Amino acid sequence: MWIDSHCHLDAAEFGGDALEVAAAAQRAGVSAIVIPAVHPDNFEVVAALARERSDCFYALGIHPMYVPHAEESDLQLLRKAVAAALADPALHPRFVAIGEIGLDFFIPELAASPLREKQEFFYAEQLKLARDFDLPVLLHVRRSQDIILKYLRRIQPAGGIAHAFNGSEQQAQTFIDLGFKLGFGGAMTYTRALQIRRLAQSLPPGSHRTGNRCTRHLAQLAAPGGQQSSAIAAHRRCAGGIARPALGAGGAANYAQCAASVAAHASLELISRLFMR
Ligand SMILES: [Zn+2]
Repeated sequence: MWIDSHCHLDAAEFGGDALEVAAAAQRAGVSAIVIPAVHPDNFEVVAALARERSDCFYALGIHPMYVPHAEESDLQLLRKAVAAALADPALHPRFVAIGEIGLDFFIPELAASPLREKQEFFYAEQLKLARDFDLPVLLHVRRSQDIILKYLRRIQPAGGIAHAFNGSEQQAQTFIDLGFKLGFGGAMTYTRALQIRRLAQSLPPGSHRTGNRCTRHLAQLAAPGGQQSSAIAAHRRCAGGIARPALGAGGAANYAQCAASVAAHASLELISRLFMR
């Protein structure tokens, strides 16, 4: 089973074609897509996508890059939305996690006071919320591995995914010890990303689980030859302000093409090799 564990289907790069993109991915062999939220403003959008398609799942959370404009009251909105989703599975099908949450210390303004502390506050509060509801978390981790892990040791949620992992072998092992799975995404497609490719190849493959839970190490959709999938491009927009306007109307086709190429080589080792070219 091939699962895209992290795709911002509602992102502008897909040109409003979310349902078409999801359908194209399914035709290309993707059985399920997890759509993380970024802010209360898109909670209803991601939930609506999951209502529309039985292969779409969603998570609710406040993304670190949206923390600058978030208010404490948004945490209450999140708690209410999560409680509502869990209370009425018929109305809110396929709600699976708290996400996307985390810490982004790559962007200088976000890494400096006071946004650094604000990010840590929102991250910790959302970890507590995940723990309260016994839900896994989808983590955004950029230049923040050790701080992310520090909080995870203190406030342990029910596992989750460290999305687009790009840390050391020791950090990888700590995540795994804490019950996390690692997502290897766009970073593996960078020409000089030798360390992360070696790490991806050296970690033992985990066992598959059905439903929305994925393998221990997840290879996010990406095309061979360094060409990134629209899923990753969409995430990079949220993670680094890197826009991919060229996707536009071709978003669905690109995504399907990438999904097909990855699904055809659904083993991390093979994917790593593809990237090594
Ligand atoms: Zn993301």
